[in-house]
Order: sequence, then C-alpha cells, then structure tokens
Amino acid sequence: EAQTPYYFTEKQNAEAIIKPREKFSHKGTFGHALLIAGSFGKMGAAVLSGKACLRSGVGLLTMHFPACGYDIMQISIPEAMAVPDENEKYISELPDLESYTAIGIGPGLSKDAATVKVLEKLLDSVKVPLIIDADALNMLSENRFLLDKLPENTILTPHPKEFQRLAGDSKNEYERLENGRQFAMKHKVIICLKGANTAVILPNGEVHFNSTGNAGMATGGTGDVLTGIITSLLAQKYAPADAAILGVYEHGLAGDRAAGKKGQSALIASDVVDCLGW
Ligand code: AMP
Ligand code: MG
Repeated sequence: EAQTPYYFTEKQNAEAIIKPREKFSHKGTFGHALLIAGSFGKMGAAVLSGKACLRSGVGLLTMHFPACGYDIMQISIPEAMAVPDENEKYISELPDLESYTAIGIGPGLSKDAATVKVLEKLLDSVKVPLIIDADALNMLSENRFLLDKLPENTILTPHPKEFQRLAGDSKNEYERLENGRQFAMKHKVIICLKGANTAVILPNGEVHFNSTGNAGMATGGTGDVLTGIITSLLAQKYAPADAAILGVYEHGLAGDRAAGKKGQSALIASDVVDCLGW
C-alpha cells in the first residue's frame, strides 16, 4: 500500500507531544529563549511575540530590539530581560548568543542592510534551534545565498506572500504544497505554510495539516504570536518538528478560544496571547 505524506494534527496528536511540567523543576529546566524583533513603528510585533513566548512555558526570555523600544519593552513585558540594540530604529548588531537554548528572529523587523548582516552572522554562528519569520524571511528571499546557510531543521513560518517570495509562484493550493515540500526537502528545513489549516512540512516531505484556528485570526499580529510560541517550545527542548506541529496547534486552539469569547470579527492578536495555555 502506497504511503501518502499527509497527516492531520488533532487533539490526541498534540497531547502526545506535550511534556508534562516536572514537579522538581526550576526556571533553568525550561530553557532561555532569545527573540530578535522589532523596529521603529513595529514594536508591537516584538511585544506580541515576547508575551506569547512567556505564555508558552519558557523558563527565561531575553528580547533584543532597537533602542527606541526600551521603555515599551520593559513596561509591556516586565517578565522579559531587555537587551537593546545600539541603533535607535532597527537591529544593527547580533547579541552574544551564549546563554540561549533557542532563538527566534523576524517579528516586526525592518529590512535595513545592517539587519541583513545580523541575520547572516546569526546563520553563521547559531548552535541552537532557530525559527525565522516575517521580514527575516523576506531577507532570505532577497539575499538567496543565505538559503545555503540555513541550519538543518530551522523552522520557517511564511504567510502566502512570504512563501511566494521564497519559493516562487504556485498555480493553486496543491502546487503550493508541492513547492513547499520540494523547498523543505532541498534545504532540510521545516516550513509552516500559514493560513487556514496551516501545513507543517518536514524535511522528509511529510505534511502535517493543522485542525485548529479560524478566520478571526486573519488579522495583524497573529503570526508574531505563533513565532513566540514556537520559540518557547524550541527553548524547552522540544524537537523542532514537534515544536512546529504543537506550536501551530496550540496557536489555533488559543485562537478558537478567543473567537469563542469575542467572536471572529472582534478578535485581535492580543486575545490569542490571552487565551494561550495547556
Ligand atoms: P501573519 O500573516 O504572519 O500575521 O500570520 C497569520 C496567522 O493567522 C497564521 O498563523 C495563520 O495560520 C493564521 N490565519 C490567517 N488566516 C487564517 C484563516 N483564514 N484561518 C485560520 N487561520 C488563519
Ligand atoms: Mg507575519
């Protein structure tokens, strides 16, 4: 019997991934995440990803963001440590990576040349699991030599437009899925093709369709929330494939709870953060 590469992530599949929280644990048990996020006018994306990261079980969170975001960060997320960049408006330097167990980059970034250099330096030096989102994905599309530097099992979370920039045009949904599979297998990365029933595509070509989520989540900032969740799971030492599949499921579940409380039209990304938890 021919094996198809398609799977559907339901409650029991997500629950099988979840690691129960140990009684004799401490914050060191749950990892230290680094999020590199934000630029002038887009600090909200950094805040949303940071809050979602903390709400997803990480032990410690450090945020690296442009200097203009210092007060915003410290006031919005007192639980996170703040390491501002020397530049006021965009990321221009890579912080010391020594302490972190996972790194997320992208939410709210700008595409300044200095930030592209930071991404290159990160890809050259990172030794822990990595997730790349938003304008950091667009930087890969516009500087294609960077694609060869992606560490194995790096997680990419493009929305349809970002995926088109990365992998070219697709005639229809099926072709897009196939393009995603080819890309994931070629570069040995994990791709979360975001949208209704987000498809998590693994380096072996498996496609895990998500069962949770709703059209209320088609609103600014929800993708930044997903990046924070997956960064948190990676920092807690979930295997990258598990972090992607579980993170996408929990994000949709929180979105469904938020829609239940507010209705789909009123739903905003902060509501998804507020409804996280498992
Ligand atoms: P972004 O465009 O980066 O903010 O990401 C949007 C997020 O919302 C992704 O996690 C999508 O999967 C989710 N999303 C967008 N539209 C829908 C939809 N129609 N149904 C379910 N989820 C959606
Ligand atoms: Mg996004």
